Amino acid sequence: KQPVIALVGRPNVGKSTLFNRLTRTRDALVADFPGLTRDRQYGVGRLGPGPYVVVDTGGLGEPDDVTYHHMQRQALRALDEADAILFLVDARVGVTPGDETLTRELRQRGKRVWLVMNKIDGVDVDVAGADFHSLGLDRPRAIAAVQGRGVRQLMDAVLGDL
Ligand code: GDP
Ligand code: MG
Repeated sequence: KQPVIALVGRPNVGKSTLFNRLTRTRDALVADFPGLTRDRQYGVGRLGPGPYVVVDTGGLGEPDDVTYHHMQRQALRALDEADAILFLVDARVGVTPGDETLTRELRQRGKRVWLVMNKIDGVDVDVAGADFHSLGLDRPRAIAAVQGRGVRQLMDAVLGDL
């Protein structure tokens, strides 16, 4: 069975951008409108040692939308079937209450979670990364999904650890 890698994080952190890069497709909708990916989306991972399955989720941790509960159910189901979870956060925004809620949800599930700090293009990685210490997870891996910076190294580590 191919390993399943789930992408989770609150809306707009760059899950779909990373999904598209990992699958080398444009299947996941990327937009400036948070929460656009309503359901789970599966793809074949092609970047890094493969093959693997990537799951893009609709976003968790920001209960500000009428479809939130549906999206949350879908996203939580994706976590249950995942072999590893990439928890994306936004280097430009820093820790939000949604990130904290999601950290608690992930901790309860006892799965391998990789904290992934996205959007590091044009930001100081050390300064941005320090903000996420408060989540109590491992040191964040730094990527810029939009350019692909750090993405191969991330997948080498994640897949090599399975
Ligand atoms: P999702 O809601 O988590 O799926 O986020 P999206 O992938 O739709 O991305 C939300 C916004 O962030 C889009 O405007 C993306 O172009 C932008 N974005 C994603 N990754 C990066 C990145 O590495 N750097 C920058 N600067 N913007 C990014
Ligand atoms: Mg999306």
